[in-house]
Amino acid sequence: MAAAAIASACAPAGSPGAPGGTGPAHPTAAPTTSRQPLKAPPPATTQTPPTQTPPTQTRPSQTPPAQKYRSGKSALAARAAAARRWGLARIPLTPPPPPLTKPKITTREGFEVDGHEELGLPPVFTTVPTKQRVVFLTIDDGAEKDPAFLRMMNDLQVPYTAFLSDYLIKDDYGYFKRMQRDGVALNNHTLHHPYLPALSYRRQQYEICAMQDVIEERYGKRPLLFRPPYGNYNRDSLRAAKSCGVKYVPLWNEEVFVDHWDYREWDRSIRPGDIVLTHFRGRGDWKGTMPDMIRRFLNKVTAEGYAVARLEDYL
Ligand SMILES: [Zn+2]
Repeated sequence: MAAAAIASACAPAGSPGAPGGTGPAHPTAAPTTSRQPLKAPPPATTQTPPTQTPPTQTRPSQTPPAQKYRSGKSALAARAAAARRWGLARIPLTPPPPPLTKPKITTREGFEVDGHEELGLPPVFTTVPTKQRVVFLTIDDGAEKDPAFLRMMNDLQVPYTAFLSDYLIKDDYGYFKRMQRDGVALNNHTLHHPYLPALSYRRQQYEICAMQDVIEERYGKRPLLFRPPYGNYNRDSLRAAKSCGVKYVPLWNEEVFVDHWDYREWDRSIRPGDIVLTHFRGRGDWKGTMPDMIRRFLNKVTAEGYAVARLEDYL
């Protein structure tokens, strides 16, 4: 039962718009004619079978996090060593410094709700306008709490943003405290991961705003970012989110799994500024671990010349 609940955390059977599920990834608020579904069978050419053995047996945990303060040659050497330890095909690219002028974030065409602008509702977007060859990694839900994943990301110094659902994290808030200490922003993905458009305004407000309170109480910071479960929302969701301090509603353009990628765009390619979604899931749900999934993610983006940047630096 628990496993089933976790497995369906972001893709319940029959839920409209469940990314990675059977439905299209469109938010219910948006017309469905202008975009391709996120879920499509990946072409054989993009399927690169992992050639590296997972290094979980080698316990790469003992690496001190000191290399984040190094610069120049020693930083590169540290990154190279970390990439080797974690079985990456290439050294992840270093992202450019945060932009001095933040890009103007607007709601993606077709993702608006009635009165979006007039009501000053937070923008809903799947990519950040930038010409820099960067992507943003976002990780949802919180079921899997793999210590090796925290070590890997700290070791490699790859930034990401977490969207947490309370019912999945409440058995171990400490895991995400460690994540926060490593510099990761913890954001809102509701208390119980419901399909929001089916709920009244009041119930949506409870799901979203009580989660703002949980994160603020547990982690000392009120989230500015909210991601609706399954990417599904309506005007009430955005009104409720705005009412308790949410400034941005980032969705995603690609989703990475342990064994494949899914794309929102018809041409199945990564673009500068794309937001990439994945989940805190492990062997219980996937044919691999979180480090396996991160290897797949990094090997592809690095091979295509993209660095992983911090989403918050662009907002
Ligand atoms: Zn989710």
